[in-house]
Amino acid sequence: MKLHRFWVVALVALAGQAGLAQAENISLRVNFNDGRNGVTFTPIRAETGEFGVTPNLPAHAQGQHWRVVAKNAQGVILHEVAVENQQQRHVEVFNPKSGKIDLAQSVKQADGAFEVSLPFDKAVASVEVLPAASTNARIASAAPVVTAKFDRASLEKMAAASKMVRTQALAGGATATTIIESGPAKTKMDYVFVGDGYTAAEMGKWATDAKKVIDGFMADPLFAANRANMNVRRVDIASNQSGVDEPDRGIYRDTAMDGAFYCYNIERLLCVNTTKVLNVVGSVLAPDQRDVIVVISNSTRYGGSGGSVATLSMHASSVEVALHEIGHTAFALADEYDYGTCSLASEPTEGDVSLNWNRSVKWGSQIAASTPVPTAAGSVPNGTVGTFQGAQYCASGKYRPTENSRMRTLGYPWHAVNERLVKSVFAKYASSGLSQSGTLSGTGVSAYVPGATPGYLTTGNGTISGQLSGASGTDFELFLFKWTGSAWTKVASSTGPTSSESISYAGTAGYYYFEVKSYAGSGNYNVQYAFPAP
Ligand SMILES: [Zn+2]
Repeated sequence: MKLHRFWVVALVALAGQAGLAQAENISLRVNFNDGRNGVTFTPIRAETGEFGVTPNLPAHAQGQHWRVVAKNAQGVILHEVAVENQQQRHVEVFNPKSGKIDLAQSVKQADGAFEVSLPFDKAVASVEVLPAASTNARIASAAPVVTAKFDRASLEKMAAASKMVRTQALAGGATATTIIESGPAKTKMDYVFVGDGYTAAEMGKWATDAKKVIDGFMADPLFAANRANMNVRRVDIASNQSGVDEPDRGIYRDTAMDGAFYCYNIERLLCVNTTKVLNVVGSVLAPDQRDVIVVISNSTRYGGSGGSVATLSMHASSVEVALHEIGHTAFALADEYDYGTCSLASEPTEGDVSLNWNRSVKWGSQIAASTPVPTAAGSVPNGTVGTFQGAQYCASGKYRPTENSRMRTLGYPWHAVNERLVKSVFAKYASSGLSQSGTLSGTGVSAYVPGATPGYLTTGNGTISGQLSGASGTDFELFLFKWTGSAWTKVASSTGPTSSESISYAGTAGYYYFEVKSYAGSGNYNVQYAFPAP
């Protein structure tokens, strides 16, 4: 049976080498602004190329994300990425001595910017920003409200203009230096450290400070273990003045990214202008090369912040703040502390908190049979996986996997459950953005993904996903096959009335391939797919 599969692959390879061309993706930088009629979105930069798409991280709380979708001329959604709703910002302030949370609150951000990358194949006619889909069936059945719609022609025009601007930007201003290079940006999680409040005369100090912070990150066992999945770059940009705004001390500095303490009137909250950060970093690094951006302010005052761009100062304990915040933004981990406004409305999407305290909890496979559940604080050594009451702003009713991790109190390790969740995020990057295009010549004809030798994917445990799009007027289907040890068996199908099909399959490690089959019609197809690394 396995031989049969190779025979099919050989045929496919002969039939269409041209079909293996990479599909084009688009990276969009979007400004948002809170106006009288709600939020308005304005694309400020577009870039097209073969970089990876934004991984669709699990959304934070329900209703806390925006959906960015690419539609065809008929209005059918071809591609979709959920991004965090950055208007609703959860800010938190830690105690530098105890590492415990001092203040957690939600603030509404009036304006800002975010970046998103998604496929931009020929069938895409528009890109739209939509509010989060509601889980309330009655609301979900209503047509979604379009928050913003950008048509293809204007995006292409913007991409052409951006290319010119990028070439000019390279002549002066920011520069990028590679610190750790482990592979192509498309298959790695790319970290960028950029300095704010360092003048041209302080570039030597900046290089020393950056090294200190990067060494601090890489000394964390989690980052050390995933070093082979990371690229790390430093971006240098000279500020006109040295330091950071400290309004409580009457200090104001003219810096490249407007770093300021006392953001939202919170002393230890250090904010920057995200539009300026994205413009600086984007002028020297491609969309693929800036998955996680950390701004370092030239100050030894304690503070930092999370969000799409994390910030920290050169205070000795600020790296701890940054690690916690990256736990949220890059790895979709929830807070495990119990201070704040509690909601027990639904099971959290994050992998490290749950309403469930028994062994069927989502991290149940990591709980030893000898560990009692629920697990009383102090009854087992810290780091032992169980179900501990108190998590995500609730003193009771929500459970966390370990007694004290970095997501609860700064300075503690991540522990096994968070480490495993982080590993799966790194694996997503390792396989993100794969794509195959080709042509089906008529009804009943199939193509196989991957078409290249050996004609199947070798995967680890986790989700295998595929999104098919096809020529308008056609009805192509998408199937997923798994090698059972003796035969290839169909394990998932997506057979809607159009050629927009999607499969998301929770699989065990093994061998898989996709089949694209024409139920009706002929024309081009594209499959975007991702799978966990073995
Ligand atoms: Zn937090």
